[in-house]
Amino acid sequence: MKPRILVLGSSNTDMILKLDRLPRPGETLLGGEFLTAAGGKGANQAVGAARAGGAVTFIARVGRDMFGDQAIAGFVKDGINVDFVFRDRRTPSGVALIFVAKDGENSIAVASGANAKLSPADVKRARSAFAGAAVLVTQLETPLATVAAAADLAVRHGLRVILNPAPARPLPDTLLRRVSILTPNETEAELLTGLKVAGAADAAKAAARLRARGVPTVILTLGARGAFVAGAEGGQLVPGFKVKAVDTTAAGDIFNGTLAVALAEGKPLLDAVRFANAAAAISVTKLGAQPSAPTRREIEAFLACRR
Ligand code: ADP
Repeated sequence: MKPRILVLGSSNTDMILKLDRLPRPGETLLGGEFLTAAGGKGANQAVGAARAGGAVTFIARVGRDMFGDQAIAGFVKDGINVDFVFRDRRTPSGVALIFVAKDGENSIAVASGANAKLSPADVKRARSAFAGAAVLVTQLETPLATVAAAADLAVRHGLRVILNPAPARPLPDTLLRRVSILTPNETEAELLTGLKVAGAADAAKAAARLRARGVPTVILTLGARGAFVAGAEGGQLVPGFKVKAVDTTAAGDIFNGTLAVALAEGKPLLDAVRFANAAAAISVTKLGAQPSAPTRREIEAFLACRR
């Protein structure tokens, strides 16, 4: 039996243009390869969880446009339940316009579109999905009131709540108290605590400060170095895996989606973090957000040869 995972969050279409260098204001550059890829933190986490072996229901809002059609078709292909991916009559689907220069530097602008319309009423419409689910995973690319409503309902149904506080923004303690596991990266941890975070020692301090605000477990992701896990039993670094990084887009999203599956399956916390580190490491070896999410088989094969 696959564990039931609920993901609430954003869905975007990433439009990626590769260029020799980034254009200056007012400048038009010719040339460069163009590609589109399914993205949005919520959708990436949903796809990450589904490919890792979760029975995923995704709660989201897209437009009644081609991008919305394509996004939903992608979710269905990954076996995700789309009953609560709502279609907005008036607002277009979310898009991200991404310039990537040869040296890896990028410039990104996002039009949230329908993501900004995902409402607490939508959470209510999706309430049947909460009963029987093990974990709710959510982030901050949709309105905070909606995230809070989902966390409330999840706690009432006995779900564990994983909040990935990305993109970074200040959070009320009322929300943090509903969260079982908070998963900031270094930048997000800095914004939430006001402490400089570079490395495991700083991570321990920042995590302690966040735990003092009512979150039992903090998992601070540290890029290639892995993740620092802090809970009631103390803190420890779970080292990352050495891989040849090609594109780190969505590494954090894959980490969160796969962590949810491992925990819902009953894996102990540190084992679940190792599983998520492996899945995220595989994802950075591939280009694009959702295209880079590994399958369960890939994650297990990777772990088997890294014992
Ligand atoms: P975000 O993608 O949200 O900025 P991080 O950069 O901390 O978050 O990455 C999330 C997780 O992805 C890390 O904890 C790690 O497991 C994995 N990861 C990220 N970058 C690399 C890398 N270069 N090599 C191996 N694993 C990586």
